[in-house]
Amino acid sequence: MSKPDPEYDSLLERNRAWAARVQTDDPEFFERSAEQQTPRYLWVGCSDARTPASKIINTAPGEMFVHRNIGNLVVHTDLNALSVIQYAVDVLKVRHILVVGHYGCGGVRAVLERKRLGLVDNWLRHIDDVRKRHACELDGLPDAEARLDRLCELNVVEQAINVCRSTVVRDAWWRGQTLSVHGWIYNLTDGLIHDLGLDIDCDGATEACQERVSRRALFPLMQDPPEDDAPAL
Ligand SMILES: [Zn+2]
Repeated sequence: MSKPDPEYDSLLERNRAWAARVQTDDPEFFERSAEQQTPRYLWVGCSDARTPASKIINTAPGEMFVHRNIGNLVVHTDLNALSVIQYAVDVLKVRHILVVGHYGCGGVRAVLERKRLGLVDNWLRHIDDVRKRHACELDGLPDAEARLDRLCELNVVEQAINVCRSTVVRDAWWRGQTLSVHGWIYNLTDGLIHDLGLDIDCDGATEACQERVSRRALFPLMQDPPEDDAPAL
């Protein structure tokens, strides 16, 4: 028997209270939830406990398929992420893949501060690769917080490009399937999501996005994007 933990013990009570409340407010909720899911969206986000996907964008059960890991990474050899993407695209036929990072990401901060956290450092190496690719730009920023914000944004862009370069997504486009990949970033301090301005829906758009990233021609992401002259990708 493990030691009593009142907070843990309250979880099932909280579940029962929630189920009862939902049943009262929306008597058909669970009937609808039990039906076959037909989500239009795949969310690829960070495991951070402060970024609950469906709560942030207020989606109902069944509307969004979700994959989360530390640092919202999409690694070409990660069978877990690739399987989620493949199932979402080929079987569920989602129309939008949302790669969603967040400012103040602990994984990104650990990379910038060169912290040693254990095994996870190997996973975070992928963020370190992003940092190295954008070292010039990051080094030119005024302080550590600006570098953290910007690397959080650049990491989203790079992971979104990784989604686009996966065989799953390229094959879907080749078949003519309607599918767009987006990069978003969530601000923990005000609850708002910022669209990073890459809406990629074909191979050509992936290349254009990569080109813009390498020329540092994406929006100055920490500021509002220009109103008129922002070319859509
Ligand atoms: Zn995070």
